[in-house]
Amino acid sequence: MSATNADPHIHDVNPIVLILLGPPGAGKGTQARILEEKFGLVQLSTGDLLRSAVAAGTEAGKQAKSVMEAGGLVSDDIVISVLSDRIAQPDCSKGVILDGFPRTTVQAGELDNVLDNSKLKINAAISLEVDDSEMVTRISGRFTCGTCGEGYHDVYKRPKVDGVCDKCGGTHMKRREDDNPETVAERLKAYHAQTAPLITYYQGKEILKTVNAMSDINNISNALSNIVNTLRTDVKKDIGMKQEV
Ligand code: AMP
Repeated sequence: MSATNADPHIHDVNPIVLILLGPPGAGKGTQARILEEKFGLVQLSTGDLLRSAVAAGTEAGKQAKSVMEAGGLVSDDIVISVLSDRIAQPDCSKGVILDGFPRTTVQAGELDNVLDNSKLKINAAISLEVDDSEMVTRISGRFTCGTCGEGYHDVYKRPKVDGVCDKCGGTHMKRREDDNPETVAERLKAYHAQTAPLITYYQGKEILKTVNAMSDINNISNALSNIVNTLRTDVKKDIGMKQEV
């Protein structure tokens, strides 16, 4: 299903903003793409935005490159700037799934400021719960279609025909340079030191949801879809109540 086949009723509610939290390899990107197609939301991946900046050789990209290669976190200033530029684009008014942002409490505070200036507000932060021990295996097997970005895995999700993308027929598959065991270990460290505290942060704001992300892709995506459907119902009720007042 393409984004244009998403549920046509989606635009009769206020736009939804979801944050996906979880260590590298938890499946944030895969699940964000599924939700994007199912609900017409826009996937905002700061990792993708930064990789594009590196490929384009922009000033932000030049500064981010070595940090990304080492598995560290790019400075808050750079990430907030690429994210705010993207979120200001008109398509984001449909609602967004933040994949890989925020990753620090400073970014979480800035996100609140950025959203205050738009019509968007965070409906839920969803923590994808996984065991670290599984993450290196998951990450080392993953690859994407270089044409459309569809994600695959050597064990969990092979294309129907080896080397050919199920979705667009592209034949250029690529693996990320930072998906090697040493860099993954650093990325996991950065997650636990700087990002995991956001679970408590969003719990305090009473918008945290958790999903067991150790099962298969379809089970996880069903659990996430249930959350989105409930949020959409809540938002509709909220609008109804405001109209009655
Ligand atoms: P990802 O694609 O989300 O795994 O991100 C790949 C890399 O981009 C990370 O290891 C970081 O170096 C950098 N990055 C992505 N998002 C952020 C963020 N919100 N804050 C800091 N660095 C980030």
